[in-house]
Amino acid sequence: MTMSSEHLQILANKLRYTGKSKPRALITGINGQDGSYLAEWLLHKGYEVHGIVRRASTNNLERIRHILDKITLHEGEITDSIFVSYVIYTVSPLEIYNLAAQSHVHTSFSVPDYTFRVNTLGLLNILEAVRQMDYLPNARIYQASTSEMFGNAPAPQGIETPFDVQSPYAISKLASHELIKHYRNTYDMYTVSGILFNHESPRRGENFVTRKITKYFGKSINDRLKLGRLKLGNIQSERDWGFAPDYVQIMWKSLQDNESKDFVLGTEISISVKDFLGVVGKYMWSDWTTYVDIDDGEFVRPSDVHKLQAKSSYTVKTDVYDLVKIMLDYETDTCDGDGYDYYMENYGDIFAWRT
Ligand code: NAP
Ligand code: GDP
Repeated sequence: MTMSSEHLQILANKLRYTGKSKPRALITGINGQDGSYLAEWLLHKGYEVHGIVRRASTNNLERIRHILDKITLHEGEITDSIFVSYVIYTVSPLEIYNLAAQSHVHTSFSVPDYTFRVNTLGLLNILEAVRQMDYLPNARIYQASTSEMFGNAPAPQGIETPFDVQSPYAISKLASHELIKHYRNTYDMYTVSGILFNHESPRRGENFVTRKITKYFGKSINDRLKLGRLKLGNIQSERDWGFAPDYVQIMWKSLQDNESKDFVLGTEISISVKDFLGVVGKYMWSDWTTYVDIDDGEFVRPSDVHKLQAKSSYTVKTDVYDLVKIMLDYETDTCDGDGYDYYMENYGDIFAWRT
């Protein structure tokens, strides 16, 4: 059955956000680190929140367990164009945040094809679905771009800095960044590429270096001895590490402007992995060199990015020194789940929006 344009208009009107109903947002990767914080932020702002999750045979919704009764989940792959179109058609979101990704740089060297399919074709599916449903109000689209696209361009890196990609991950994200520009320039769509420097939290995946370090050093000395020394790769590389909840608020803000524009976000402080270990060691009264081994095999990348430091478009609140404290406090405290009560007590100002 084909729909007449009149029918389509009626449908569009039914689905259209009128200002009386709640604005609707769709987050891909809602059960990732950023997706989970963004979902909380949008709920706080009064949105009806929908999210895409992949089917898994185990319960992998740990980061959003506490808000499952407040959000609607759609199970599927963002690489599946039919599924993506269907979800966008039925949800008819005002805003789409594309956070789903194969987000680990080192892993992208082993699975470049998969990384491309998720990180680039996933976004293309979203852009095409929105473009082709032009009888619906055009959703505004946020794309999770990365400072990895700057690669080894001299620091500090800002919106004018030329890209210098060093990994399949960075290449896949750069292609997406270009797609965002293309759909904005060619079809007049509201699309934003947020180029975010590293941002971490107690919800960060355990194979990223900050979480790996804080999880290990958060353990008692006895437990560390039982586990053996922590194996790390290149500890000379420098990163601009911020705190994820600060960053998701700017993602939202970037979709509220009169016109869409790309931006860069970071703390503007860059320290090496080695210095990060030093800060952790100080907080834990431990000489980190006694506990760490440098493994020049497993954790070293075929090519690495030496120094990332933002010339940021916005200011963020939390610097790397507070970030270390937050991450270590989480590991050493006996708080349940994601430590919500503990956060509220200790970092109430940062998490005030979560009440
Ligand atoms: P994350 O924790 O790895 O979350 C990514 C999410 O995407 C996960 O929930 C994952 O699902 C989901 N996903 C992966 N492949 C998918 C697929 N084919 N279909 C549907 N969902 C899929 O990453 P994050 O740290 O929150 O980062 C969010 C986004 O920002 C990512 O795009 C990342 O590349 C980008 N970014 C992150 C940083 C940072 O420092 N955190 C910096 C710049 C850019 P599962 O939970 O099932 O694995
Ligand atoms: P990335 O900046 O997105 O790649 O974030 P990561 O946390 O994965 O890596 C940050 C830096 O830490 C990179 O330069 C890595 O080479 C370096 N690094 C050193 N040891 C490790 C390790 O054991 N695991 C990870 N993930 N990175 C490490």
